[in-house]
Amino acid sequence: MSSILDSDIKFLPGVGPKRSELLNKELNIKTFRDFLLFFPFRYIDRTKIYSVSDIEASMSYIQLRGRITRINVIGEKGPAKRLVATFADATGVIDLVFFQGIKWIKDWLKTNTEYIIFGKPSLFNQTINIVHPEIEPATEENPIYVGNMLGVYPSTERLRNNGFNNKQIARLMATLIKTCQGSLNETLPLYVLNEKRLMQFSEAIQNIHFPKDLKTLGQAQFRFKFEELFFLQLSLLKQKSFRERALNGIIMNKVGDYFDKCYKKLPFELTGAQKRVIKEIRADITSGRQMNRLLQGDVGSGKTLVAIFTALLAADNGYQSCIMAPTEVLAVQHFKGAQKLLEGTGVKCALLTGNTKAKERKPIHEQLLSGEIDLLFGTHALIEDIVQFNNLGFAVIDEQHRFGVEQRAKLWSKGEIIPHILVMTATPIPRTLAMTLYGDLDVSVIDELPPGRKPVKTIHASDNQRQRIYSFMKEQIAAGRQIFVVYPLIRESEKMDYKNLQEGYMNIVEEFKAPQYVTAVVHGKQKNEDKAHDMDLFASGNANILVSTSVIEVGVDVPNASVMMIESAERFGLSQLHQLRGRVGRGTDESYCILMTGYKLSKESRKRVELMCSTSDGFELAEADLRMRGPGDLEGTQQSGLPIDLKIANLAKDSQILEDSRRYAQKILDEDPHLSNEKNRALTITLNSLKKEIKDYSQIS
Ligand code: ADP
Ligand code: MG
Repeated sequence: MSSILDSDIKFLPGVGPKRSELLNKELNIKTFRDFLLFFPFRYIDRTKIYSVSDIEASMSYIQLRGRITRINVIGEKGPAKRLVATFADATGVIDLVFFQGIKWIKDWLKTNTEYIIFGKPSLFNQTINIVHPEIEPATEENPIYVGNMLGVYPSTERLRNNGFNNKQIARLMATLIKTCQGSLNETLPLYVLNEKRLMQFSEAIQNIHFPKDLKTLGQAQFRFKFEELFFLQLSLLKQKSFRERALNGIIMNKVGDYFDKCYKKLPFELTGAQKRVIKEIRADITSGRQMNRLLQGDVGSGKTLVAIFTALLAADNGYQSCIMAPTEVLAVQHFKGAQKLLEGTGVKCALLTGNTKAKERKPIHEQLLSGEIDLLFGTHALIEDIVQFNNLGFAVIDEQHRFGVEQRAKLWSKGEIIPHILVMTATPIPRTLAMTLYGDLDVSVIDELPPGRKPVKTIHASDNQRQRIYSFMKEQIAAGRQIFVVYPLIRESEKMDYKNLQEGYMNIVEEFKAPQYVTAVVHGKQKNEDKAHDMDLFASGNANILVSTSVIEVGVDVPNASVMMIESAERFGLSQLHQLRGRVGRGTDESYCILMTGYKLSKESRKRVELMCSTSDGFELAEADLRMRGPGDLEGTQQSGLPIDLKIANLAKDSQILEDSRRYAQKILDEDPHLSNEKNRALTITLNSLKKEIKDYSQIS
């Protein structure tokens, strides 16, 4: 069923093949439909025309209609030279001032034509004037800009330089809407429109691009936000109910020797939260349904142990498990920690990473296939095709946000039967985001830290306080404690970042002289042996300071470390800062996080730093992060973001619409699980067209 909306954008009059390529590349706009659904991200209110006599210097942007009565160029060459055009309407006169493009404006402006001008009044020498207003002839064929809310479209430098400035986009949009009039078919069933009081599709398209007024704009936006979130939730919930009904889960009823022995060997008691989560998991894996669970818990809350005890249950029932971590360092640490715990219990575990030597790989592959290995730790290396299990029953993804959708999906297909899945994250995810990203998962939360942990004291310092910080570090080292120093590493500025790290490292070595002090350094440009050597040096307590990039962000556990010093802290996101801070404060002594920043900070950065100093609640920080940065940036400088682009809904601002749309989608599915009812036909059609985009991730993430 092809519609004019599927037409290639190059066929829109005014676009053509060359410029369509640009739209394609810069904005991913390929069809008429894509372009129609390319919405303004803000609007300028040009519904009102002011009178000159109403103007006050304190006003924001205003629009006027009138004539130019006089044009004067004043001043000599140089910055004082300016063009002053006197503008008049029936109520008075005001000067329009131009410092640039004087010659062009002088030729272009005419004294007997009516113009619409738009600009911000300002006070200069006690008179009000308008500097560099937008100005255009008040002709009838230009109704888009006058008497409307004017949409402002997202754009890029390249687009603007190639004939797609905002006005040109708006003009094309007007043409497109005219062209498609009559084909703007409703995507929601009539009963949904009625029950939810939504504006019709065609009307909403018109009004989101060219709204008559604020109220209509609000209705149009609401319709698209609701629709977007509703279909997302419908898809996720449908997937979830499908999984619950159709997928058989491996039944792991037995609590056997492996579990019992290790439980007795633990040098401490599990926290109440850990016990509760293990119970929740046990309910899943004995239910006959496949588990697909997200485990959230702050850094250091003991998620890994929960994963290991679940793996022991799997082993007790004759199944293999694997735990996938995002970095080598972390995988090694998991492995070593587990080895200690599992020693003498008969559980066989192994480690597989990108650095595992070829001759060690082979026996691991064989023993996985024969079932000899019970528990495999590793990085991405463990999802390679060559890695085959005998009977994988349980798979864990640690710090799941570091993995792409495909990697997760690959793990899913490792067993004959789909294994039970546990994804773990220390980045607390706000409720709305969890509902979107993980709408088809069950969620467990560890909301309790092991006993004896003290909150980390967080301090903000700028470069000119560095000496004081160094003395403080020396006191800590004298007291037998260790120190992390972390530098940002961001792909776009990688070269500079490495340079900063190298310089920082030299400074530290200079200040903390050997042999009294030992400083280790870990970063991505090192040989693996060097990295492992320095990491061990620090982990074993033989180095006082570890200088590194944010590779240590996740997981690394050195209980004796008491200071986390973060360089250029303003460049990290809140969630990342929180993760880093979680690396200290694992022992019972007082711990410190020092946020080093430049002296001058943007408002945003200052707010982030202040928040860090004032709270240690990961969820509060995550909510703030979502509000301040938007979900796309939630993971800071890491890749990731949302699995599908939300075009208009904003997870931080539209949480109510999200929750409502989820409830509504659930209600529809409760009545019609397969959406086979005639009245839901439109839903199925739209869902199928969305499937391409979201199918993969809804199965596993
Ligand atoms: P997470 O992965 O949630 O950040 P880990 O599993 O790495 O946390 O645990 C952090 C540290 O706390 C580890 O050294 C672990 O041995 C320890 N730990 C875990 N659970 C407990 C507990 N119940 N009591 C004391 N220490 C614990
Ligand atoms: Mg961990």
